Amino acid sequence: MIEQGIRSSKILFFRNLHGYKEIKHFVSTRSGGVSKAPFDSMNLGLHVGDEREDVINNRKIVASYLNIDFKNMTIAEQTHSGNVAVIFEEQRGKGNTCHENSVSNSDAMVTDVKNICVTILVADCVPIIFFDPQRRVIGVAHAGWRGTVRFIAANTVNTMVKKFGTLPEDIMVGIGPSIGPCCYKVGPEVLSQVRAIFKTAPDFIKNESRDGTGYLDLWSLNSMQLINEGVLKENIDIARICTAHNQQDFFSYRANKGETGRFGVGIELC
Ligand SMILES: [Zn+2]
Repeated sequence: MIEQGIRSSKILFFRNLHGYKEIKHFVSTRSGGVSKAPFDSMNLGLHVGDEREDVINNRKIVASYLNIDFKNMTIAEQTHSGNVAVIFEEQRGKGNTCHENSVSNSDAMVTDVKNICVTILVADCVPIIFFDPQRRVIGVAHAGWRGTVRFIAANTVNTMVKKFGTLPEDIMVGIGPSIGPCCYKVGPEVLSQVRAIFKTAPDFIKNESRDGTGYLDLWSLNSMQLINEGVLKENIDIARICTAHNQQDFFSYRANKGETGRFGVGIELC
């Protein structure tokens, strides 16, 4: 990823998306915000118990760094579903000041409307950005293990194809910082579901123990899911940054034992 220091914060950009003039995108980090511990300091999540005004201020700070209008930042409720919302003009800015007003029961958003910054909030779950430069369609998705087994990444591609005529081979994808196979230890109940759904799952489970636990590779699972939908491997940029290993830069739900903030991953058409 390309890292850029902006005032007291740091923003990351995907290499394969950075050159496009038609979009703005970002991956925020945890520095440079106004939230206090344990949300220090650039927490963008309104639903985690932080002060509302601080979160809104943080969102405004990130928007200003990127020259994005905060009023256009559109947030999904994120329920670990496989649901993709198509975003129209009416949803512009939904959820930007109030979690209850966010795009309901959705873990991905797709749009062709200009200047709507569809934004996903994460702390270990996998954030995925989509851009079709031919049809000028964008998307963003949130894939934890539940979203991954519910095919949220594949559903996002399919929504772009069905609603906007996107060709999968045109889509550029960024898979952002999230918990890596180095740290994502899960129990047998998770592994059995992953195995049942993805027949090739053994490739994505590392260091399995006798007690049935193992380490899950969500980056590869989501990448495979996208390739199966026709996305080209060379168009997928995987950050390979583990949030649990990089707590100075990212919130990690696991590493911070559940009490922590969220960083944001967003994209908008200019
Ligand atoms: Zn790690």
